[in-house]
Amino acid sequence: MSLFSQVTAAPPDPILGLTEAFVADQRPGKVNLGVGVYQDESGKVPVLECVREASDRINAEGAPRPYLPIPGLATYYNLVRDLIFGSGSEVAETGRVAMLQTLSGTGALKVGADFLSQVSPDATVLVSDPSWENHQALFTRAGLKVGTYRYYDESAHGIDFAGMLEDLGAAAPGTIVVLHPCCHNPTGYDLNDEQWVEVVKVVRERGLVPFVDMAYQGFSRSLADDAAPVRRFVESGGPLFVSVSFSKTFSLYGERIGALAVVCDDADQAARVLSQLKIVIRTNYSNPPTFGAKVVSTVLGDPELRALWEAELGAMRDRIKAMRRALVDGLVAAGVEQDMEFIARQVGMFSYSGLTKEQMLRLRSEFGIYGTDKGRICVAALNPRNLDPVSAAIAEVLR
Ligand code: PMP
Repeated sequence: MSLFSQVTAAPPDPILGLTEAFVADQRPGKVNLGVGVYQDESGKVPVLECVREASDRINAEGAPRPYLPIPGLATYYNLVRDLIFGSGSEVAETGRVAMLQTLSGTGALKVGADFLSQVSPDATVLVSDPSWENHQALFTRAGLKVGTYRYYDESAHGIDFAGMLEDLGAAAPGTIVVLHPCCHNPTGYDLNDEQWVEVVKVVRERGLVPFVDMAYQGFSRSLADDAAPVRRFVESGGPLFVSVSFSKTFSLYGERIGALAVVCDDADQAARVLSQLKIVIRTNYSNPPTFGAKVVSTVLGDPELRALWEAELGAMRDRIKAMRRALVDGLVAAGVEQDMEFIARQVGMFSYSGLTKEQMLRLRSEFGIYGTDKGRICVAALNPRNLDPVSAAIAEVLR
């Protein structure tokens, strides 16, 4: 018997496994609506102009590449702090936020989860039902118990807000609550401003610990509007974790660039928390990579490049909205009689299409159109060329 003879094969990742199947598919008309990647009109992952310009500047500089400090590039995470909390924010002024550069959003969640399992090993983590698949897996792997709070109301094509409030209101003090501030993945349904007021209230009244996972700031509304839930939590007092990703908003998926912010009571506490977070990083990967942090900080720190980025971000947001509208219209034109207007009301890259697993499997096997078994499709991968065949195929499986 060898060391590995008892190792069983793990199931493929539900989303990345889908891409593997897509790549292996030989049909020319195949469409990948499975993975959460924004594509432009021509079906390509864009290189943003602001990123191209920043990269040119960085490369022209030809600077050496020493190790970054454990928490990453300070220019970078200070600019990110201002992006999240607003410039001149109280948390920046008082220094009561611990900031770190991380390996994108996933890395921020993982560093936060490892730290939480150290300071609060018996706490339960609640994630929305449903949530991004990795939330549950990641917090479980960090040694915490994970449960869910009600979120999606299938029959209403919306949010079960009463259920959500009830579940949060019944959670034990100290429970960690993972929340999506905008562009909820996978459903595409976000809380409105009034609902956020109520969520912040119940989280604080019950003494729960909010962990806001912000992977799409600026993909729904303005940068400030999308970060509004984060700022509400800050104003309400108490601890707060925020994970940030620039995968989508800078189209920098492979650079693995993100951040973790931990808001504490005061600067002294933040310094102690930071010292522990640094150990989590040191014992995992020692320190983060340079390039993505340089690109993002070059863009955010230069008024012209920043304006260009906001314009490019706005263009991605508008294109997604236009594709939602076009998909609903395309479905009607293809003869769908059910009301599909909810797709246009959703926000962000994803749509819970309401299709069943059987219908999703038919889309895959008969038409080469890949979405998740749960009916999630990435509307940011639709374009004028694939829209008609996708609409026709969905119409066919809905018939
Ligand atoms: N959180 C959510 C809600 C996401 O949708 C994603 C990306 N699919 C992530 C975190 C992490 O992505 P990344 O590690 O590329 O930043």
